[in-house]
Amino acid sequence: MFSYRHAFHAGSHADVLKHMMLIAILRHLTQKDAALVVVDTHAGAGLYRLDGDYAGTTGEAQTGIFRLASAISPAKPAKPAPKEVAPLIQDYMSFVAQFNVPGELKVYPGSPFVAQRLLRAEARDKLKLFELHPTDIKSLAGNIAQLEAGRQVTVTRADGFEGLKALLPPPSRRAMVLIDPSYEIKTDYAKTVACVQDALTRFATGTYMVWYPVIPRPEAHDLPRRLKTIANRAGKPWLNASLAIGQDEERSQPGEPARRPGLTASGVFVVNPPHTLKPALQVALPQLLKALGRGRGMSQTLESAG
Ligand code: SAM
Repeated sequence: MFSYRHAFHAGSHADVLKHMMLIAILRHLTQKDAALVVVDTHAGAGLYRLDGDYAGTTGEAQTGIFRLASAISPAKPAKPAPKEVAPLIQDYMSFVAQFNVPGELKVYPGSPFVAQRLLRAEARDKLKLFELHPTDIKSLAGNIAQLEAGRQVTVTRADGFEGLKALLPPPSRRAMVLIDPSYEIKTDYAKTVACVQDALTRFATGTYMVWYPVIPRPEAHDLPRRLKTIANRAGKPWLNASLAIGQDEERSQPGEPARRPGLTASGVFVVNPPHTLKPALQVALPQLLKALGRGRGMSQTLESAG
């Protein structure tokens, strides 16, 4: 069960979509004075090296943050940068840049570091992190300890699907929950659906954000459809965004190992999204697709209700 390590995937196109949306949602939710509780049910290690052994093995950041960076500020003038980069993309890129020395892109913030940077000590916002992997929980605890955030952040080695239950409803009645499993085991799909259903029963006005892979597997295909049904039955607004970068059309050279396709598409489903999210994504998603799309099969979708 523990073969998934997010370090291999940090900064990929899926991370770009997820973290760009996470930043946008948290920026909106932290505008109100009342304390916000953020729960990250599947936290990962928190912080990643893009030049380290893990990231280098799969090169997944090349499908995401590196490709986006070169599309926005192209090294060669032959490929002009978009005249006006969408605010969500600009914000995401400058956010990641804060973790790096100027001109370099070596460190990548995972969702715990994205959230912690946006939370407000003065508002008594809280961040609750769950992780199960025996190595990643140690890295996460070590990375978070360096922030010296005190009681603002708690790290728990436990099943995030279960751990969430005790946190809802939060005392401040304001919560944002990221549910970002690796879907390494098939039951994660059903657990995600059950988790959102249960969370909405406990706390109907929370914002729930679910990342999912778009892959040819019935459970994956059904996941956004099932989430829509849950949100509709609860009478809650929802938004569903997806990004498919398409197949890499570059062929392997003779003698080179065959290129593995890897994950080419993912989506993010949000229950109770901020009203500002959809218009912002309408501008950002086409630009993201232009920057990250590789050819056959590339597409983006954005739908919502309520
Ligand atoms: N949310 C992270 C981010 O955006 O930076 C990435 C998380 S990664 C996709 C999923 C993580 O969930 C892995 O580190 C895995 O070890 C962990 N995990 C798997 N099952 C879990 C569970 N039931 N509860 C908590 N963590 C779990």
